[in-house]
Amino acid sequence: MDIHEYQAKEILARFGVPVPRGGLAYSPEQAAYRSSEIGGDRWVVKAQIHSGGRGEVGGVKVCASDSEIRDFASTLFGRRLVTKQTDERGKLVGRVYVEQAADIDQEMYLGFVLDRTSERVMVVASAEGGMEIEELSESHPEAILRMTIDPAAGFIDYQARELAFGLGLDAGQVAEAVKIFKACYRAFRDYDATMVEINPLIVTGAGKLMALDAKMSFDNNALYRHQEISELRDMSQEDPIEAGAADRGLAYVSLSGNIGCMINGAGLAMATMDMIKLAGGEPANFLDIGGGASPDRVLTAFRTVLADPKVEAILVNIFAGINRCDWVAEGVVQAYGKLDIEIPVIVRLSGTNEAQGKKILAESNLPILTADTLAEAARIAVETMKGKAAA
Ligand code: GDP
Ligand code: MN
Repeated sequence: MDIHEYQAKEILARFGVPVPRGGLAYSPEQAAYRSSEIGGDRWVVKAQIHSGGRGEVGGVKVCASDSEIRDFASTLFGRRLVTKQTDERGKLVGRVYVEQAADIDQEMYLGFVLDRTSERVMVVASAEGGMEIEELSESHPEAILRMTIDPAAGFIDYQARELAFGLGLDAGQVAEAVKIFKACYRAFRDYDATMVEINPLIVTGAGKLMALDAKMSFDNNALYRHQEISELRDMSQEDPIEAGAADRGLAYVSLSGNIGCMINGAGLAMATMDMIKLAGGEPANFLDIGGGASPDRVLTAFRTVLADPKVEAILVNIFAGINRCDWVAEGVVQAYGKLDIEIPVIVRLSGTNEAQGKKILAESNLPILTADTLAEAARIAVETMKGKAAA
């Protein structure tokens, strides 16, 4: 789960990370009022969306008066911001954060991520901040410092100092940096985060360190033990189909093609996508029905896949072990009875109760296309799409 910048800053500040004074606004009027509460003579107005790259697309502006804040905030509310990190639909701005503007001397990068290779939390830092870490690793890979943290020992002072000196900070700033690094690590660990990012971490004109932007993501599987984090969820920032599927215990991933895939198991999902691509098609999504799926669950899965307007055909590929092909077949038949299915459906069933499942499909008299192998199913799915394109 992702949270907003202002929420991440609030958490990190509690752990001791210095952040600018700021206030949240739900309207342009409120945004203007915040500036009088905050004080100062220059403010930064920032669209709150679950994405970085806002600066480049006009989601962040330094303002010098109430009216400038009000005018800029009015352009943000209700707008969908499309950034490098969002899809083409972008993310809706419903909240705006107003902060006292900082005087920037240097922009650095600081990130904490899970490194699957070392099975540890990895700190990534660079004296060249501001740009995305992906861009930085392409243009200046040598400017990136990395360090892994031993979970038993924690983030040890000497490691933090080494990192701070590596960033070229002076002796006075090193102590401040060590405090910030360790605070981020504690926040990461205490809340079961999967990512903490401060980009940019700045050195101000007065030589102080401060987090100018902040991002945090959390492990959904650990949310049950962090009520205060769950409360930060903002559904308006999520893909409604993906969120709806997750809330019903179905793993759903949205992609860019037009063939909807219903499968059981992540490995089979990968294989199915490969076969569709090999046959010359593009998957629109994949939905994992999991093990032991009841007909009702299959019906819910159909409802989810059909909710995606990109879907022009559905491929059901089940390799049943714990699952039962007859239950899946019954679910497919029920879906035809309860939903408006006007697109081709291709079903490949293999494994437990395969014969019963195939019989149910055959006796339904529904226009279901069937296949015995995955390759054949993928070929039929792609051919029906090509047939539709030609017609
Ligand atoms: P992002 O583009 O979504 O990552 O948003 P950021 O919060 O990182 O802001 C983008 C850029 O706006 C930063 O890299 C800064 O250059 C600039 N910026 C943000 N806050 C301030 C500020 O307080 N003062 C000044 N001068 N620039 C700022
Ligand atoms: Mn940023």
